[in-house]
Amino acid sequence: MGSIRMKRRFVEADVLCIGGGIAGLMAAIRAAEMGAKTVVAEKANTMFSGSGATGNDHFLCYLPEVHGKDIEPIVNEFQLGQQGGLRHRSFIHTWLLRSEEIVKLWDDWGIPMKYNGKYELSGHALPGNPIYHIHYAGKDQKKILTEQTLKRGAEIMNRVMCFDLITDGNGVTGAIGINTWHDEVVFFKAKTVILGTGSAIRLYPASTTPAWLFNTRLSPTCVGDGRAMAYRAGAELVNIEIPILRCGPVYFARAGKGTWAGVLRDPQGKPVGPFVTEPDNRYGDPVVDIYQDIFMDYKKTGRGPVYMDCKGLSDEGLEYMYHWLYNEGNAGLLNHLKEEGIDPRERPVEFRTYHYELFPRGGVYYDEEGATSMKGLYAAGDEFFGGISGAAVFGWIAGENAAKQAKGMALPAIDHAKDRLEEAVAEMEHIRNREVGASWKEANIALQQIMYDFTGEVRSETLLDAGLLALRRLKRKARESLLAANAHELCRCLEVFNLLEVGELIFIAAKERRETRGKHIRPDYPFTNPQLSKLLVLRKEDGGPAMEWRPIKR
Ligand SMILES: Cc1cc2nc3c(=O)[nH]c(=O)nc-3n(C[C@H](O)[C@H](O)[C@H](O)COP(=O)(O)OP(=O)(O)OC[C@H]3O[C@@H](n4cnc5c(N)ncnc54)[C@H](O)[C@@H]3O)c2cc1C
Repeated sequence: MGSIRMKRRFVEADVLCIGGGIAGLMAAIRAAEMGAKTVVAEKANTMFSGSGATGNDHFLCYLPEVHGKDIEPIVNEFQLGQQGGLRHRSFIHTWLLRSEEIVKLWDDWGIPMKYNGKYELSGHALPGNPIYHIHYAGKDQKKILTEQTLKRGAEIMNRVMCFDLITDGNGVTGAIGINTWHDEVVFFKAKTVILGTGSAIRLYPASTTPAWLFNTRLSPTCVGDGRAMAYRAGAELVNIEIPILRCGPVYFARAGKGTWAGVLRDPQGKPVGPFVTEPDNRYGDPVVDIYQDIFMDYKKTGRGPVYMDCKGLSDEGLEYMYHWLYNEGNAGLLNHLKEEGIDPRERPVEFRTYHYELFPRGGVYYDEEGATSMKGLYAAGDEFFGGISGAAVFGWIAGENAAKQAKGMALPAIDHAKDRLEEAVAEMEHIRNREVGASWKEANIALQQIMYDFTGEVRSETLLDAGLLALRRLKRKARESLLAANAHELCRCLEVFNLLEVGELIFIAAKERRETRGKHIRPDYPFTNPQLSKLLVLRKEDGGPAMEWRPIKR
């Protein structure tokens, strides 16, 4: 046995933001400006971390000066879309209502929200329907939000991964993390905690290159830590059984399909969707928003591949599209096109469904106040799929409410958590000191295979039962055998434990949703049951998962 002993560090905060992505930084900015002692714990580096790391370009919002005084048509339109269907109307209302304030703030801080001096409505809409996204130039958003956070006196701790929350029976009182740079365990004592750890990627195989775990459409450091921590602490999760899939250029897994202006065509040049026949910078080809598995279906039936064809786009139109793709974190892809001398007007780009890379649409159940079901615990952003605007708006709201709650509160004593802290340290040292064992990668790959085989394209009672058995065996073996050669690998091991937790919960909730809905496809319950158009809420009770159906307030 080795003899690594991890150092300990204690940190106190009024508001602890776990995750320094868009939601986490917005929460920190707001909490700090309201006078709260605010700390951000970020696994990577806030300058370039998370799904917004290298930019985004579509911001969902309601702007009275553009959309008119009546917000309701926009709320209605949103509620019909993928995200709206599973949210209370009051949540969507608040989101849209507060979005104008954030658009203006970002513009003031130097994130260009206008194009040529005005708001540019674009994308994610059918021709003729209201457009509620604006184009914005988000390339430097993370650097700017980091600056704003520091300017208000909040502390940013980069390279700190939090992996568990501390509770006292009344609510959340802190968190445990590791600093992979300084190789130390960090104990946070906090009056309130905000989860902003993003999505749950790396649960399913990387979409186009399964051998490369990190070639993912969204940030590969977002692995559902928030969902796992919230569940273990006793907070509610919601609709994690319903997955989403997305599409984009083949082999370069990258979000950004809504910015491509071309027409999707089959190999004979026939458009595959009914919406457009010519390139269009404003709408693109909306078929990709509605029927994301079209590429998969074309492939299965031998009619593919399907190409994004920009033929007919003017020089100006191409430059415009490249401008937004560049701002949307697609600089690597654009460099590749340049290096290879590819003009997408002459050589259409093959698109595909990133069909392996499912991720949960639901997650930590937070309301329009950013509050979870647990006292002292808030959440925002992709903790419950929300895009850039959801992250910015609810990050801001969560920061505001967490700071208000922390005001006048005493710092919690964490004496009650001493045993838990020592147990966590012992477990981590054990993983570090193991001389023989398996690597995090082996466990992550095995988990992805199980998730895909049993909860991927098709689910059923028998498949789910068999998969759950396999997953639980893997979970036990991972606990018994993972080893880490350094703090960085330890972080990856802890991620895998969280991924296993989230994976197990997906199985349990998927068994309960006895219908087919979206990409939750159950041939044993082959239709969408209107009576189950509800939230499936899951929480830990008496040591195990308990579930409850709740109506959606439309
Ligand atoms: C290329 C690309 C283009 C996109 N374009 C758009 C767009 O135009 N419009 C749009 O609406 N959306 C877009 N998205 C999605 C959008 O970026 C995300 O929805 C948004 O970033 C979510 O913000 P978040 O703060 O919830 O999560 P993230 O921005 O992903 O931040 C989460 C942060 O938490 C950190 N973290 C994770 N776990 C831990 C832990 N345990 N401890 C500490 N830190 C942790 C991560 O490192 C990360 O920094 C795009 C995504 C990509 C990748």
